[in-house]
Amino acid sequence: MGSEEETKKKNEVFDAEAASLFVKELRGTFASGKTKSYGWRVSQLKSLMKMLNEREPDIVDALRQDLDKPELESSIYEVALLKTSIKSALKELKHWMTPEKAKTSITTFPSSAEIVPEPFGVVLIISPWNYPFLLSLDPVVGAIAAGNALVLKPSEVAPASSSLLAKLVGEYMDLSSIRVVEGAVAETSALLDQKWDKICYTGNSRVARIVMAAAAKHLTPVLLELGGKSPVVFDSGINLKVACRRMIMGKWGCNNGQACISPDHIITTKDYAPKLLESLKNELENFYGKNPLESKDLSRIVNSNHFARLSKLLDDDKVSGKIVHGGERDKNKLRIAPTLLLDVPRDSLIMSEEIFGPLLPILTVDKIEDSFDIINSGTKPLAAYLFTNNKKLKQQFVETVSAGGLVINDTAVHVIMLALLKNHTLLRSCICTY
Ligand code: NAD
Repeated sequence: MGSEEETKKKNEVFDAEAASLFVKELRGTFASGKTKSYGWRVSQLKSLMKMLNEREPDIVDALRQDLDKPELESSIYEVALLKTSIKSALKELKHWMTPEKAKTSITTFPSSAEIVPEPFGVVLIISPWNYPFLLSLDPVVGAIAAGNALVLKPSEVAPASSSLLAKLVGEYMDLSSIRVVEGAVAETSALLDQKWDKICYTGNSRVARIVMAAAAKHLTPVLLELGGKSPVVFDSGINLKVACRRMIMGKWGCNNGQACISPDHIITTKDYAPKLLESLKNELENFYGKNPLESKDLSRIVNSNHFARLSKLLDDDKVSGKIVHGGERDKNKLRIAPTLLLDVPRDSLIMSEEIFGPLLPILTVDKIEDSFDIINSGTKPLAAYLFTNNKKLKQQFVETVSAGGLVINDTAVHVIMLALLKNHTLLRSCICTY
């Protein structure tokens, strides 16, 4: 039996043996030097672009099936952002591949030195369900641009997207170097048993620990993209209507709150909270109408497990009486309306884990500066947002709050900057101010 047929057969039952065969084949390709050439990298990036240009309707359709994701959101966040990333990689590729002269010391005179960029080898990419195309293919763009062979394991929680990814990669990409393995825990575990040269994992921190433990066995370097509770601080004296609209776009306009950088909770002063609440309610109605459960502009909750998880957060005795807007749910359609909760206790369930859905608690403080203490007393947020016109407060925010990204006077927009930045693996902190 030829090696391709063998792999095909093994992939029907994807166990450690099949995984080992996959890696062996990819290692062979990498060792041949094929993926290192400039020509190969460009051809694969261009094929990916062609795939996005030609198959956007299929992508939009898969996202409808998995999440009922609105078409505009799919086109912007899952397709256009990826195209930006590919364009940037194609533009910078020659420069990224060029060795960089390095300084030498007098003690090694007359030597010269240079830093030569080289690929890791064979990379495993494990992606989540919430942005199944962007978060699967953006690391693929980075891996290809760096000259690696790779295996992508999309999330089983978004099955239509996972199956389309496997199909499209089969049609458009070089299968001797780029493969998709579909599956859940068993298949991912079989993959993790193998020796990789780099593992990129996006998802929750519980699984991240499993990934790191598996990588540690082979001393494989790992790139983790995790989540967290991202706060939004609302100062007074701002253009409240604009601020609320930007808040709504970042929270419910991004997959109905199922985004890693989604605003998780608001912190504002006791005095300002009523005004803020009123404005948020008005704008939510402007965006999604009087019956948001019927809105075509909101994604649904991904599955019944996540619906039950979010329902549990709402039904917690400590917060069930705190709902001041929304709260409607439709279990059969997996829909939850944008929901605001005021003055929830900090020891409630909703405040102790990442919400990752359409619920938004509002905490109140006496002085706005106190909000920074609340943020710093918790785990480091993936993103932190501040709405203010106060220069001193902006400065204090940047100096005292540490997060994956800080944005002033908007929410979530920094992902667009990330897609434009050059080095995918070095995107850690970025500050956008308006
Ligand atoms: P998920 O359930 O799809 O899991 C992610 C991946 O892990 C999947 O491919 C899945 O098959 C695999 N997996 C699950 N259980 C496993 C196990 N026991 N062993 C090995 N592999 C396993 O997605 P999720 O974790 O629910 O994703 C949501 C989380 O991801 C949130 O915390 C969110 O904040 C975070 N996230 C972070 C980013 C970022 O860029 N920082 C982006 C999106 C999501």
